[in-house]
Amino acid sequence: MDNWKKVILHVDMNAFFASIEQRDDIELRGKPIAVTNGKHGSCIITCSYEARAFGIKTGMKFSEAKIMCPKLIRKPSNPKKYAAISSQIMEILHNISPDIEIFSVDEAFIDLTHCKKIYNSPIEVACLVKDQIHENINLSCSIGISNNKAMAKFAAKLKKPDGITLIDPTQSCLFLENRLITDLCGVSKGIQKFLNKHNVFFCNDMKKIPISILGNRYGNVGRKIWLMAQGLDYDALKIESKPPQSFGHGKVTIPGLKDVHLIKKIFRHMCEKVAKRMRINAYESDKFFIGYKTWEGWHVRKFQLSYFTNNGSDIYGLAENLICKINLTLGINQVQVTAINPQPINLQVDIFGKKDVFNNRVIDNVIDQINLKYPDSVIGPARLLGKTSSPDVISPSWRPKGWKRSV
Ligand SMILES: [Mg+2]
Repeated sequence: MDNWKKVILHVDMNAFFASIEQRDDIELRGKPIAVTNGKHGSCIITCSYEARAFGIKTGMKFSEAKIMCPKLIRKPSNPKKYAAISSQIMEILHNISPDIEIFSVDEAFIDLTHCKKIYNSPIEVACLVKDQIHENINLSCSIGISNNKAMAKFAAKLKKPDGITLIDPTQSCLFLENRLITDLCGVSKGIQKFLNKHNVFFCNDMKKIPISILGNRYGNVGRKIWLMAQGLDYDALKIESKPPQSFGHGKVTIPGLKDVHLIKKIFRHMCEKVAKRMRINAYESDKFFIGYKTWEGWHVRKFQLSYFTNNGSDIYGLAENLICKINLTLGINQVQVTAINPQPINLQVDIFGKKDVFNNRVIDNVIDQINLKYPDSVIGPARLLGKTSSPDVISPSWRPKGWKRSV
C-alpha cells in the first residue's frame, strides 16, 4: 500500500436489518426471514441470506415472495434499534480512522491514507474492523479495499457475506474488463440502454467511446461512470461536516387561534425546542427570526441580542415583544421560531455582560440531563403544562447520532 496514492476501505454490513433480527431471536436463525414496514407491510425492505437463496429480493411484494418460499417469516422493521446499532458501528470505524464517510445506515468508507504509518496493511485493518464489529455487535460485514471509493465499493460486493476483497489499483482494469456495465454502482436501466446503443456492454467497451458522450447526456454522473468502468474515481470522502445555518421550529395551530394563553404556550414550546436543539449540538445564537402567520400572511421580526444564548427563556423574552402585538380578533394560524446566526458554543462568558448567562447554562444543563434520563420532558416551564405533543419524525437526512451534517 506504500505506493498507493489513497487507501480506501468500503464496509458493507451483510443483510443488516435481517441479521439484527436473527441475532436477537434464536428462533429466526438459519431461517428465511423478510423485514417489512410494520406487521402487515406488503413490501420487503430486506431479507436474510436464507431467503435470498430462494431468489427473494429487496423491493419484492411479500405475498409474491411467500409463493417462492412458503416458509418465509415476516418481521416488522425496528428503525430505532437499527439506528442505535448503526451508531455503534460508525463509532468503531471512527476509532480505526477519523476519516470516514457514512454512506448509508449500513455502509461506510474509511480512508486510511493518513494512517499508513499506524497500520501494516489494509488487510490487517479489514480484519480489525471485522473482529471489532463481531466482538462488540455480533454481526458480519463485507469489506472491499482499493485506491478509490468506486473500486472499494465494487470490491466489497464480490464476496458476500463476510468477505474481504482487495483490488490492487494496477489490476483494476483487468478486474473490470469482462464485467457487465450494470455491475457498476449507479448504472440504471436508462443509462444501460443508452450505453448499449453505443455498443458498450462490458466495462472494457467504455474506452471505445469518448467521455463527452456520457458527459453531454448525463453530466457529472455520466463522466463518473465512464471513469469508473476503467477503475478510476477522483471523488474524495465527504468527511467535513458543514456547520448548521439555522435552528428552527414551527407549528401549525388550529386556524384563527385567538386564545392568547394557548398562543403563548405554543411560542414558548417552540422557543424551548430551538434552545434545546442548540444545546444538544453545542451551539448558541444572538439573532432570531420569530413570526406568526394570519389570514393576511406572515408577520416576522428579526431580533438581535447583545449576547449569545441557547436558553429558552431568553428567546421567549424576545417572542413576547411580538405576541403583545398580535391582533387577537383575527387570530393566528402558524408560529415559527428560528435562530439564524448559530455559532459553536463559546464557553468564555462575558462577566461584565448579562449576569445570568452562566447560571442559566448550569441550570439548563442539569435540566437537560434529567429530561434525557426520563422520557417526556419532566422539568420545563410551567407554561408548557398540558401542551399538545407532536410526534418526532425521522428525517430523510437521518444520520446516526453524532454524525449529522446539518442540524
Ligand atoms: Mg448492506
